[in-house]
Parts: sequence; C-alpha cells; structure tokens
Amino acid sequence: QPVLAVVGRPNVGKSTLVNRILGRREAVVQDVPGVTRDRVAYDAQWSGRRFTMVDTGGWEPGATGLQGAVAAQAEFAMTTADAVLLVVDATVGATATDEAVVRVLRRSKRPVLLAANKVDDQRLLADTAALWSLGLGEPHPVSGLHGRGSGDLLDAVIAALPEAPREGERAVGPRRVALVGKPNVGKSSLLNKLAGEERAVVDSVAGTTVDPVDSLVELDGELWRFVDTAGLRRKVQTASGAEYYASLRTKTAIDAAEVAIVLLDASEPLSEQDLRVVSMVVDAGRALVLAFNKWDLVDDERRHQLAKEIDRGLVRVPWAERVNVSALTGRAVRKLAPTLRTALASWDQRVPTGQLNGWLSELIAATPPPVRGGKQPKVLFATQAGIRPPTLVLFATGFLEAGYRRFIERRFRERFGFTGSPVRINVRVRE
Ligand code: GDP
Repeated sequence: QPVLAVVGRPNVGKSTLVNRILGRREAVVQDVPGVTRDRVAYDAQWSGRRFTMVDTGGWEPGATGLQGAVAAQAEFAMTTADAVLLVVDATVGATATDEAVVRVLRRSKRPVLLAANKVDDQRLLADTAALWSLGLGEPHPVSGLHGRGSGDLLDAVIAALPEAPREGERAVGPRRVALVGKPNVGKSSLLNKLAGEERAVVDSVAGTTVDPVDSLVELDGELWRFVDTAGLRRKVQTASGAEYYASLRTKTAIDAAEVAIVLLDASEPLSEQDLRVVSMVVDAGRALVLAFNKWDLVDDERRHQLAKEIDRGLVRVPWAERVNVSALTGRAVRKLAPTLRTALASWDQRVPTGQLNGWLSELIAATPPPVRGGKQPKVLFATQAGIRPPTLVLFATGFLEAGYRRFIERRFRERFGFTGSPVRINVRVRE
C-alpha cells in the first residue's frame, strides 16, 4: 500500500484537509495517536485505490524554529513516502518557509503535489494562480472546510502514487489446499479418508487430459480444492532420484495452494525432512496447518516425547494450529476444515492503519528498540502493506535487530491473532 505524506506549515489547514479526505467516519479516529505524537497514519481510499496517508504535522523534536520543523517534516516525507502533498494557505500565498520546504522536496525524486487550501470561494481562485511560482506545477485549489476541489486533488494523488500490488482478487471457487509431507506419512490415506468419509464430491479437475491434477473434496459443507494430488491418488513407485522429485512436487503443490496441511508422522521422531517441508510453506508465505498423523499408534510415552520434539523442532511456527489425526481410523479428521478456515482467515486479515499504530506506539513507548552504535533507532509508524501473507512495513530511523523484529511480531500476534498464518515484517529505514 503506497504512502502519501502530507506536509505544510502549521495553520495552513492540513488536518482539516486530511479529515476531509478521510471522510467523516475516519475523522473520528483523529485522536488515535501515531507512533510519535506528531505523526499520524491513516488508511485512505479513492476510486478503489487504497493508500496510507501520513499527517506529518507538529514539531520535530530537536528542530529549531518554524523553518526547521517544516524542513524536518519534508525530510521525513521524502524518505518514507511514495508521494508528497504540500499544503499551502492560498489566502497567505507562498511564504519563505514554503519555499524552503520546496527546496528540500525538490531534492527527492518523489512526486510532489501542491494543494492550495482555504479556497473557500470563487474569488480566491486568482490567489491560487500565484502559487505556480513555487515551481511544483499546477496548484490544486481546495477547501478543507467545505470539501471543494478535494475530488480533483485525490485524482491527482492517485495518479502520482505507484500502483499497489493487486490483492483481494483471489480466483473464485474453492480455496486451494496442499497436502504435503515426507513419503509414507499417510498423505494418500488421508486424502482418501477425507474424500470417502465426508462422502461428497470426489472429483478430479483436469490439468492435462492424461493426468488429472487436483481433487475437489467436500469438507464440513464446503468444497475445497486439494492441489496437485495426482501422485497421491495413484501411487507412483519410488525410484532413484525420487526424493528430489518428491521435493519438487511438494514445492509445486505449496506454490499452487493458499494453505498447506503439513502431515507429520506422530509415531516417529520429527525429522529434518519434516522441518524442511514446514519451512517451504513459511517461505512461500502460505497459511499452515500441522497435522500429526498415525495418532492411533501414539501411546503416553510417545506423546510426551513428541511434545519435546515439537518444542525443540517447530520453533519457527508457534502460531500454527496442530491437529492430531489418524487417516486409518478417521480420528479428528473432521477438525481439519475448521482449522483450515482459521488459517485462511488469518492469511486474509488486515489490521487498519490507525489501530495498528495505536497499538504500536504504546508498545514502542514501553519497549523501545535497542540502541545500536550509540544511536536510538525510532519507529515512526507502520502500515499493513498487504495480505496473503499479511505483511507489515515498519518505517524506522535506524536498523532494527532481528530479535526486536521478532519481539514486535510476537506482540503483534498476541494483540491481533493471525493464528495459522505467517506474518512478514519489513523495515524501511530512512538513510
Ligand atoms: P504417503 O506416501 O504420504 O501418501 O503415505 P500413504 O498414505 O501411502 O501411507 C503410508 C503407510 O502408512 C501406509 O502403509 C498406510 O496404511 C499407513 N498409514 C497412513 N495413515 C495411517 C494412520 O493414521 N495410522 C496408521 N497406523 N497407519 C497409517
């Protein structure tokens, strides 16, 4: 999701304009604090395009004078935003401070739009023309108070912002599941059980005419597409190089899926190969369900042993739900569908920017990032840039150590859930 920074001197009507752009409903959350008191980030939407709007108003600590404060805003905007909206007061005209800001903004490669605010009536349009002198191209006359001109301004904003990655347009039809795991964990058995037990559609979807690729299975009243199951329905004899092909096949299935069930053999020690499959799912950014199969073979002693193996081995995915099943007896296979739904809901989940930053500001105030090289990195704000998988972007003034990023992820999950889905955290550092 692209970021628009709004900069301008105090009293030019920045906040009024920001509220106007957000619309009345969003304006209510105006008092949700940003990560630092003087920067507030919001989700905005226009013509079906979403972007994050950052109000850089307020004084930069350490900056001296009006000029310094506004220059600091501009500098912040340049390093974190994809486009900048400079708001000036048309009734006052371009001041020396405005000109200083423009000089800073010019040095960036970012597109800069000029809003001439407080053009509340027709007579003031003439004042707007004078603002061409700032050299930012056409001034957009607006009235934050009355809303006049904000549509045209937003059209220009959208045109200046980079296209956000398309999302939320999942191919229609059943959700896509990969059933993966090392050889002999019981994938074929489970697929057959699921198809048979639930009694419904056991159909195949033609990939090539020779080899049907996917299976449609009804679970819990819903149709699911199990991808790349050809090899599971018809057992292929293992030959040399089989492991390589099995791993390739696993990769293909995961890539084609939205969620993966990683099947593990509960009757045997967790192996490197098991952990590799789990990592493949996480690295591909797919939702994950861990299913421990052959539970009919598990006694008390094995159960305790397995718990230890899980603590040691599955440290990367404490957020994944675990289901103990038996493809042989059918134990708990009914639990798979709800677990898949939970994981997919997390994979699809988006935290609104205001809520995210309200939470983050408190977290960071309580536990600031560790000092590095004598400097205290600051986290300015965050936005959830995408879903599938959920991806956060943190804007910071310095490098954030991996340990601190993990801390943030842990707390983020405590607050917002995301059970069953990997969460990516990217950090954009301003130079
Ligand atoms: P795949 O290679 O992962 O497809 O594994 P298969 O489905 O071919 O199963 C491998 C072996 O494990 C077969 O002999 C199955 O009968 C057996 N098996 C599968 N699931 C279970 C289970 O839940 N319990 C027990 N005891 N055996 C199972």
